Amino acid sequence: MILVVNAGSSSIKFRLFNDSDIKNPVDVLDGIAERITVDGFVSFKYEGKKYEFDMELPNHEVAIQFILNKLIELNVIVNINDINAVGFRIVHGVTISKSSIIDQKVFETISEAVKLAPLHNPGAIIAIEAIKKIMPKAKMVACFDTAFHQTLGEEQFLYPVPYSWFEEHGVRKYGFHGISYQYITEKMSEILVKSKDKLNLIVCHLGNGASITCIKNGKSFDTTMGLTPLAGIMMGTRSGDIDPSIIEYMSKELNLDVSKITNILNKESGLLGLSGKSSDMRDITDGYFKGDKNYIRALNKYTQVAADYIVKFANLLGNDFDGIVFTAGIGENSVTTRKLILDKLPLLNIEIDSAKNEESYGDYKYISSRNSKIKVLAVRTNEELMICKDTINLTK
Ligand code: AMP
Repeated sequence: MILVVNAGSSSIKFRLFNDSDIKNPVDVLDGIAERITVDGFVSFKYEGKKYEFDMELPNHEVAIQFILNKLIELNVIVNINDINAVGFRIVHGVTISKSSIIDQKVFETISEAVKLAPLHNPGAIIAIEAIKKIMPKAKMVACFDTAFHQTLGEEQFLYPVPYSWFEEHGVRKYGFHGISYQYITEKMSEILVKSKDKLNLIVCHLGNGASITCIKNGKSFDTTMGLTPLAGIMMGTRSGDIDPSIIEYMSKELNLDVSKITNILNKESGLLGLSGKSSDMRDITDGYFKGDKNYIRALNKYTQVAADYIVKFANLLGNDFDGIVFTAGIGENSVTTRKLILDKLPLLNIEIDSAKNEESYGDYKYISSRNSKIKVLAVRTNEELMICKDTINLTK
């Protein structure tokens, strides 16, 4: 078995895969431990049944031990040695360009990147340390959201700031959601029956966190997120790109220090900031159709910013590319968001098939009509499966 772990500062999402068939690992169980250090709640799905436990989780180690004990109780595993490897989602891996066995050097890089991803990397570090203690025999693999974007060229990754900021402080665009982009690129290669290294795509990963990536010849060519996941398009609670002077200006206006303003840009902006009510796209689209001006304002801005980046990336691909893909919570499910974004792309000769946009689907579906010059698809991402496959490849 392979355990895939996506840990935050107070939560651990986990998925267990059976890797008997190493080419096609099958997911056996998935769940989440939440509210770690606050009080604690664990839930998971196994064989169609939902299990829920309210209990004290003072730290990640207790949470992981609890989950493993439950797996043994339910006979999912006989003992912890049935799990031969653990794959971790790591948001920031600085310049590491591929998934890697977690040795001392990799662990140090993940630790150094805490200052670049203070909201994300600390949880992963605590989880790695906990697994090392509880399962000393398991091999551990780190899969980075940044790795896929290491193919960006200087013109894309440099910021027009003093060059020494890049050389001495690592100030550059790193890009994120790379595990999802890697999965989507492989899936699109299957769907279009086209070799991965010839694929040119614009992939819109629209979840709570959101980014768009321009994929040229199967590699990341440009992406919207930057030094941190705060940059790029507007998101659920993150602002995306803004005039950098707003930070100093609002710091003085509100008499708050820069880190507090940055916190507002991370947690109280985006859809939540502009609507003043919700960061959840289901609320936003419901309100939009009811004529609520707060939701209309938020959705119009959100879809315009996304469309602006799609045009920019189409320009990089020369307007002759294999398709636009929508993925993640909003991209996969929000019919209205997809439609509003596509309606704002008059230069691209896209013909949407409204019925297809609305119909339910399995792994993927076309949204564009047969005659559309540019194909548009919704594809369900599967970051856990990608992590599992990389973990198998590095440990078998
Ligand atoms: P993620 O971070 O990928 O889990 O995506 C979370 C976002 O997806 C939230 O804004 C949700 O409102 C949105 N989402 C999930 N399901 C739907 C749905 N059926 N329709 C519209 N938005 C959805």
